[in-house]
Amino acid sequence: MKKIWNIQEIKTLFKKPFLELIFEAQKIHRKHFNPSEIQISTLLSIKTGLCPEDCKYCAQSSRYKTNIKVEKLLKIDEIIEKAKQAKQSGSDRFCMGAAWKHPKERDMPYLIKIIQEVKKLGLETCMTLGSLNDSQAQQLYDAGLDFYNHNLDTSPKVYKKIITTRTYQDRLNTLNIIQKTGIKICSGGILGLGEKTHDRAELLMQLANLKKIPDSIPINMLVNIKGTPMENNKKINTFDFIKTIAVARIMMPQSYIRLSAGRENMSKNMQTMCFIAGVNSIFYGCKLLTTNNPKQKDDLQLFQQLGLYPKKKIIYNKNLKNINTLNTKMINNTSKYYNAIMN
Ligand code: SF4
Repeated sequence: MKKIWNIQEIKTLFKKPFLELIFEAQKIHRKHFNPSEIQISTLLSIKTGLCPEDCKYCAQSSRYKTNIKVEKLLKIDEIIEKAKQAKQSGSDRFCMGAAWKHPKERDMPYLIKIIQEVKKLGLETCMTLGSLNDSQAQQLYDAGLDFYNHNLDTSPKVYKKIITTRTYQDRLNTLNIIQKTGIKICSGGILGLGEKTHDRAELLMQLANLKKIPDSIPINMLVNIKGTPMENNKKINTFDFIKTIAVARIMMPQSYIRLSAGRENMSKNMQTMCFIAGVNSIFYGCKLLTTNNPKQKDDLQLFQQLGLYPKKKIIYNKNLKNINTLNTKMINNTSKYYNAIMN
C-alpha cells in the first residue's frame, strides 16, 4: 500500500545530520537505480513570453519587464529540427513548453501534430502548457504524449505569495486530470523563493502524497532574473538544496529526480553532491526555456570525471569521442558498483 507521509516524519528527515541523510538517500537510490546512469531531457520553448500568469520568478510573465525575446508559436518543422538535434546529443526525452495559462482549443491540432512527429523520432515527449481540461488531456494522451510537466513550485502557503493568478488547488486539479488519462506526471518545485525548511517539507509531502507519485521530479534552484520581483532573492544555501534532494530521494525512491533550472549557477562540486544525494536526471542543452544551462561539453566532461553515463547512448562529436568507449566499458562492467540490495 502506498505510504502517506506526514509533515513530522519529513521534518525529522530534514533534521538528520547531513552525512547520515546523504548516506541513507544514496542507499535507497542504489536499490532502485543504476547509480551511474543519468536520464537526459532537452527542453524547448515553443511559445515564449507574454504569459498572462504572474509567477514572480518568471521572465515570461507579461507583468514584468525582462530581457526575453517574445516569440510566437514555433513552426512544426523548427521544433522537429530541434528534436533531432536533442536526440543526437543524447537526450531521450524532448520537453516542450508554452507560456500559456492553458492551451486554447484551436491549439490542439498543432500540439497533437508535434507530439506525433517527435514520437516518430523515437523520443519520449513531455509538454508543459499550463492547466488542462479533461478533453485536452485526453487528446494529448491519445496523440501519444508520455509526460506532462506541471510544477507545484513550493508549499501552499508560499505559493499564494508567489502567484496570484491561479491557486494551488488549480494545480492539483490539473495534476489529477492528467493522472486519470495515463500520461506520466513530471512535477517538482523551485528552491530559493524565500521558503523555509517547513515549506520544502510541505512541497515534498504534496508530491509524495499525490495519488500516484510523479515519475519525474524537477528540482530547480531559483535563477534571479532581472526585472522580476525575485531578482534580488537571497541564494539558497547549498547544503539546504542538497538536503532537499536527499529527502526527496528517500520519500520518492523510484522517481527520476532532475536538476533543472539554476544548474548553471552550481559548481561542479555542488552538482556532484546532488548526484550523490539522489539526482539521476538533468536537462541538457544550452538553454532552459529562457534561462541559461551549462554547455553540453562541460556536462559530458563532468560525466566523464564522475563515471556517469547517459541512459541513452550519446552520438558523440569529435572532441568527446573517448567518452563513448568509456560508456560501453562502464555499462558492461557493473561489478564496479556497490550494490545496496546485496550489501
Ligand atoms: S512560470 Fe509558466 S505560467 Fe508562470 S509566468 Fe512563467 S510561463 Fe507563465
